[in-house]
Amino acid sequence: MRRLVATAAIAIAIAIATLATARPAAAAPTTVCVVPLGKFDAKLVPIIRRGIAYIYGFETRLLPARAMPAAAFYKPRKRWRADAILEFLNASVLPDSGCTIVMGFTREDISTTKPPFEDWGILGLGQIGGTASVVSSFRASRGVARSKAAMRTVKVVNHELGHVLGMDHGGEPGCVMNDAAGTVKTIDKEPGLLCPNERSFVEDHHEIVIPAHVTFEWQTVLSP
Ligand SMILES: [Zn+2]
Repeated sequence: MRRLVATAAIAIAIAIATLATARPAAAAPTTVCVVPLGKFDAKLVPIIRRGIAYIYGFETRLLPARAMPAAAFYKPRKRWRADAILEFLNASVLPDSGCTIVMGFTREDISTTKPPFEDWGILGLGQIGGTASVVSSFRASRGVARSKAAMRTVKVVNHELGHVLGMDHGGEPGCVMNDAAGTVKTIDKEPGLLCPNERSFVEDHHEIVIPAHVTFEWQTVLSP
């Protein structure tokens, strides 16, 4: 069983299961593969790839776009179950891809179960210590300027990647792994940077050195 954590748009991010899968220290360079799923915002793709490289220093690769997996469709709300998307990514995209981590990226609405809610819309879902995550720009983009939507999306991407790299939610506001705790607007207040303890965690657990930034130079990620 893997542990899944969602970043909810309107409520706290949630953990679904409790058993973390230990992830071995990466012997090879980490390659994060981005796979567009269903309808997606093509202009955001290079931005999230630069955002991943900026924060983690990882190589990214763009995989061919795929249709949303039919098994993930949640008919009552006409949206897509993030847990089923992760299963699809692990079973049908990751094998033989050469990728260390795969991230689905879509502008379709995605959801998961957050008791007592059977189906709860979310910004993203990542497996703690796993290999897959999915991020939707749907909720991050509603009613805001494109630059703000892009910044939110980059922050969510790096948050979900943090889960995949083994991190749970930290208690500190201002850190990438801080919980969205109530509203997507929480994300707007976050600088989008790893805090020193988060950087140390990733470096120690994956035997890598990752960039240290004092401020987020958004220009280099949004429009270099
Ligand atoms: Zn989270």
